[in-house]
Amino acid sequence: MTVSRLRGIPPTIFAEMSALATATGAINLGQGFPDVDGPADVVERAVAALRGGANQYAPGPGVPVLREAVARHQQRHYGLDLDPATQVVITTGATEAIAAAILGLVEPGDEVVLLEPYYDSYPAMITMAGGVRRPVTLRAPDFRLDVAALRSAVSERTRVILLNTPHNPTGTVLTRAELQAVADVAVEHDLIVVTDEVYEHLTYGTGTHHNEHHPLATLPGMFERTLTLSSIGKSYSFTGWKVGWASGPAHLVAAVLAAKQWLTFTSGAPLQPAAAYALDEEPDWPARLAASLQERRDLLCEGLRALGLAVTVPQGTYFATTDITGLGWADGDAFCRALPGRAGVVAIPTQGFYDPDRDAADNPGRQLVRWAFCKRPEVVETALERLAGSDLSGPRG
Ligand code: PMP
Ligand code: GLN
Repeated sequence: MTVSRLRGIPPTIFAEMSALATATGAINLGQGFPDVDGPADVVERAVAALRGGANQYAPGPGVPVLREAVARHQQRHYGLDLDPATQVVITTGATEAIAAAILGLVEPGDEVVLLEPYYDSYPAMITMAGGVRRPVTLRAPDFRLDVAALRSAVSERTRVILLNTPHNPTGTVLTRAELQAVADVAVEHDLIVVTDEVYEHLTYGTGTHHNEHHPLATLPGMFERTLTLSSIGKSYSFTGWKVGWASGPAHLVAAVLAAKQWLTFTSGAPLQPAAAYALDEEPDWPARLAASLQERRDLLCEGLRALGLAVTVPQGTYFATTDITGLGWADGDAFCRALPGRAGVVAIPTQGFYDPDRDAADNPGRQLVRWAFCKRPEVVETALERLAGSDLSGPRG
């Protein structure tokens, strides 16, 4: 039994695939979480906060020291000036920031334009808010923004563009020119942009080019209409902490807070000073993580290519995408369900990130599979050895 508000929203594929990995003892290259924790001094800060009495409700918008640290972070990395009192709100992970932003900004019937494939909480939250999805599909193998498709997805009913860069699951990092195209459309149609930038620090080189992340809020005229979301999870390898934030002009931050106060009221108190410490005292840690992730990206992508898979090398995030057609498979879901038994490895079928209303036959991600490389190099290597030693040929192979 499901209430109408949740009908048509499939269960999250991450839980299912991680459970499959646990049940079969397979190496989990599915759900994206690192197998090495973030900086030890930051953990010590959290322990000190727990021991030091930071155990009662934090203020609704977040503890001041973390709001200030987020403002300093946006200034240090991007030159953005924020008033921590009115332009930053702390949330329970970026997930709550996404939920509160959509509940706080989207009226029933409003249209939300978003990049497909989408991170799975976006369609779920838009549906719960009574909004209408207008996908702009990033097409394999390059997954670039199609500006004409963006323009034709916008209508009089559009209220919000929901952006995600670096993009999960494709690994696309939007270029300045692509962001400018989004900005032009937003200004022309007077739209709000909610931009999920949780992978802001996890960008890599491709060839001789370094794919730098540019927050949309830094483009001329965009700050006033842009709500930027991020969290401690990916940048500092603390995905289980669920400390996130939204920042932007006071009227958009107030909309997030208006919804957030009824979702969680306030977020976990002892982890907030520790997250502030990470942002202030370990500002270079994410760049070192990115350098090490780039090596693991290359290891995984080369290994997958050697298996006969067509690989899209990601410019950012934790994930590489393959097309499994070359192995004789047409359906990534069937492939991923067979994989633990065949090879002792779990990956994620990308088709689950496409619009839930699409028919299987009309799903551009049907033959795509997402692999996480945020694991120790020896784990990536063992997974590749297992894959290389297994029969991966499909029903048509
Ligand atoms: N957005 C994207 C694109 C993500 O990949 C994730 C990671 N699960 C989140 C949001 C959620 O972030 P958090 O864990 O901080 O809630
Ligand atoms: N962001 C991670 C992923 O895409 C984790 C998702 C989740 O656990 N909900 O795999």
